[in-house]
Amino acid sequence: AKAEVARSTCFYDASMDEHARERRDLAAEMRSALEQGRFAVHYQPQADFGTGTVLGYEALLRWNHPVRGMIAPAEFIVLAEETGLILPLGEWVLRTACTEAVGWEPHLRISVNLSAVQLAHGDLPDLVEKVLRETGLRADRLELEITETAIIRNRAKALHVMERIRTLGVSIAIDDFGTGYSSLATLRSFPFDRIKVDRSFVRDLASEPQSLAIMRAVLALGRSLNISVMVEGVETAAQLKTLQDEGCTQAQGYYFGYPLPPDRLPHSVPLAASA
Ligand code: C2E
Ligand code: CA
Ligand code: CA
Ligand code: CA
Repeated sequence: AKAEVARSTCFYDASMDEHARERRDLAAEMRSALEQGRFAVHYQPQADFGTGTVLGYEALLRWNHPVRGMIAPAEFIVLAEETGLILPLGEWVLRTACTEAVGWEPHLRISVNLSAVQLAHGDLPDLVEKVLRETGLRADRLELEITETAIIRNRAKALHVMERIRTLGVSIAIDDFGTGYSSLATLRSFPFDRIKVDRSFVRDLASEPQSLAIMRAVLALGRSLNISVMVEGVETAAQLKTLQDEGCTQAQGYYFGYPLPPDRLPHSVPLAASA
């Protein structure tokens, strides 16, 4: 039994080393990928399905890996945050997305995701201002998406940064709404222009009465606070119909369009079926 314990301990250590090595290699690969232009931004339409128009597009980061193909952010964002690479990477996304959006029709908005690490970094409002100046993008065409989790890591700092960003004329959305620790308190204490309802609430809309009740309440909340509500993760006509019946008009999801490279963006989205 003693030998067995020793062996499993040894195995455990070896696997830890292995894990650490993989992380180190991935971090190094990420750094050179950024230098060599192997990251890409894809864009997913944000729909006003009442009118069938595109409001804008959300910028979603991809890593075009020579061996592994397109890698989704879930596989590398956390490591990028832990190593600090998210700062140059996030700046690259912001600049790339704004540069792209300048070429779109002038009413179209671009939404860019921010990491907690970017929010905690002192220069974010300066960076946003600089990128707008350099790209020539109108401030009111840019929206930044921030999760509650990112905000509560340093509330005072986050509030200050968000206020300065809004002073520039840039709007801010609370992302993944409803999944945080205390979404309502966050909504009360921070200046948001838009609520993005997490897709878990849409997924269970048909099967769970609670999800419908919560969706209804969030839509009412948005109306009374005068904050737009956009629902994430709409995949089916049935989900869209339910949302429409609840008076919702803005949504994002595979039903309207997948995230795509900038040369393949849809210019219109399906209308909700008329009742
Ligand atoms: P998110 O900001 O909540 O982005 C929405 C995610 O849901 C995207 O995944 C999108 O492809 C996916 N999605 C959109 N519609 C549907 C749908 O109808 N059904 C389902 N099942 N999924 C849908 P993606 O692109 O893999 O991004 C995952 C997360 O990675 C994002 O979640 C965001 O938190 C983060 N992320 C992406 N790009 C960036 C970035 O540039 N910077 C930072 N800091 N985070 C990013
Ligand atoms: Ca987002
Ligand atoms: Ca989200
Ligand atoms: Ca998310």
